Amino acid sequence: MQSPPLDRVRVLSVIPPMTQLNTPYPSTAYLTGFLRSRGVEAVQEDLALALMLRLFSREGLTALHAQVLLLADAKRAPCVQAFAAQFDRYVATITPLIAFLQNRDATLAHRICSRAFLPEGPRFATIDVYGAAFGVEEEGDDPLAWAFGALGLQDKARHLATLYLNDLADVLREAVDPRFEFVRYAEQLATSQPTFEPLAAALAAPNNLVDDTLQDLTLAAIARHAPTVVLISVPFPGAVYAAFRIAQTIKAHHPAIVLALGGGFVNTELRELTEGRVFDYFDFVTLDAGERPLLALLEHVAGKRSKQRLVRTFVREDGEVGAGPPQGDLLPLGGADAAPQRPQRLSGPKVRYINFVEPDIAFAEVGTPTWDGLPLDKYLSLLDMLNPMNRLWSDGRWNKLTVAHGCYWKKCSFCDVSLDYISRYEGASATTLVDRIEAIVKETGQTGFHFVDEAAPPKALKALAAELQARNLGISWWGNIRFEKSFSPELCQQLADSGCIAISGGLEVASDRLLNLMKKGVSVEQVARVTRAFTDAGVLVHAYLMYGFPTQTVQDTVDALEYVRQLFEQGCIQSGFFHRFACTVHSPVGKRPEDYGVTLLPLPDSPDHKIFAKNDVGFIDPTGVDHDVLGVGLKKAIYNYMHGVGLDADVRSWFSVKVPKPTVAKHRIARALGV
Ligand code: SF4
Repeated sequence: MQSPPLDRVRVLSVIPPMTQLNTPYPSTAYLTGFLRSRGVEAVQEDLALALMLRLFSREGLTALHAQVLLLADAKRAPCVQAFAAQFDRYVATITPLIAFLQNRDATLAHRICSRAFLPEGPRFATIDVYGAAFGVEEEGDDPLAWAFGALGLQDKARHLATLYLNDLADVLREAVDPRFEFVRYAEQLATSQPTFEPLAAALAAPNNLVDDTLQDLTLAAIARHAPTVVLISVPFPGAVYAAFRIAQTIKAHHPAIVLALGGGFVNTELRELTEGRVFDYFDFVTLDAGERPLLALLEHVAGKRSKQRLVRTFVREDGEVGAGPPQGDLLPLGGADAAPQRPQRLSGPKVRYINFVEPDIAFAEVGTPTWDGLPLDKYLSLLDMLNPMNRLWSDGRWNKLTVAHGCYWKKCSFCDVSLDYISRYEGASATTLVDRIEAIVKETGQTGFHFVDEAAPPKALKALAAELQARNLGISWWGNIRFEKSFSPELCQQLADSGCIAISGGLEVASDRLLNLMKKGVSVEQVARVTRAFTDAGVLVHAYLMYGFPTQTVQDTVDALEYVRQLFEQGCIQSGFFHRFACTVHSPVGKRPEDYGVTLLPLPDSPDHKIFAKNDVGFIDPTGVDHDVLGVGLKKAIYNYMHGVGLDADVRSWFSVKVPKPTVAKHRIARALGV
């Protein structure tokens, strides 16, 4: 392969399906902005959005209908039957519906809300469930009126349109690809998969309609940009299968193009990669913050740097035995090829990890992300959940930005604190951040920002707010924090005045014993005071909640739910989500399980002893609690609380099994707030 000079290298960064549909995933915007700031010709494509728009078009639905006709009548699920029976109406409505969701045809809301315009499949049955829950009994009453009132026409139409798309996604799953999801597409092929075998088998299978569509879009993107290098950033397991399909297409049709894989999934799960077959699809796999490895890689591609001087990069080399990177630890600075030489279990796996250690690009110098080239007017504002905080994730186009790199706290025992994306904390001055914000508003014309930090530091937020106020910028922003006591009522008010509309943070298991064991650095009462201060300042609050933490008893779970109930009741939080605790090999629990009273299960091996993905690890908790059963009750409770329902019910009523009475006093949170 003839190397192009660096000034002739043309880089295409790709967002693979599926990621969120309301706004671009930020990885390509960051990489493109950074590369352009270094004089590299760089462009970007969102193939997740493109795939969605192609599948949910007149042509896409016609192709889907052809697949449905191949199904035997007996195999047609209710959603498929509803689609087949109303196919003409689906074809007639899909184009205006997408335009409506793209905010290009607001007046269509009237017809959508008439409930006579859109064909309705099984997903619409949920509306009647809401109606019953909210006491709408009279025939002719609008069961959605409780949520949207008489004037919330646009929101109501958006919700109905989202149900319509969900019905179509169900049909696609039934008739074409059982792995299809809007966000977690085929993720079981990648999540902590010790072996590459299932993914290899899926990639060797004949293309289905989704694969064919993605292949067409990939080839069109390559034809448009004629890149010499394609970067595919995979943020999570639900984007892995499509990333490999994209790479497979490019390799088959344009073998001279250099392909590199990176992103959040790689940074957490592929750190010990020895599976050579990954390199049938990608030439390079890079770890952690992408900027420095990428510069080295591009110099290498341009013939200006030897392969031995790549940075945090896996390559396949015939006949060589490599060494994985240190498990979860920061790589030492200084010296070439600094990764410890750890022998692999089999001879000749041909995967080598190269780390010619050079300092990372400082957060203050990574440049301003750019959305140039992405179709910002084509993203879809969806409204799945009827909760004002929850909708922020699916509704509206937010510019995504980070206030700092990494987490300033980096102590929580369930978190990947040993990995770069958490452990390397670096900030930038408020002036730099607000310069970036101004540049982004100028470029996109949009003033909404989502700060995607793991936990934005209060000091940096205070400085940022002051700078936003000093420049009198009318932006709106929301982001993730730790509910720590520095968020005083005065600071919460200042943040709100600077444009903060919502905040999310981890309350995890609402139990002081477990918060302590987790090293979260907060108490339940402190969280109550901080969240209430945000609410009082007019800022919506979402709490990340957890269950199944080591040593968590049934009593702990019941008590935690009682705290959560009281937090909703007292107006401290408006939204929440219960995650099941997962032990990762990079977290303190995974590294020192004995400190948390649990024993790790051996990690599964792959048949050929080659390592592919490695992240979650099973464990034995001597408490023996059935967290699966309790989890169902917790999720039911939180769903209802978010809709303002069931706050006066005994928390035990949400569980399907007998659980003990809460030991938390009924007015504990009210007392903590001095109510
Ligand atoms: S859980 Fe959040 S606050 Fe805790 S260490 Fe991780 S990123 Fe930081």
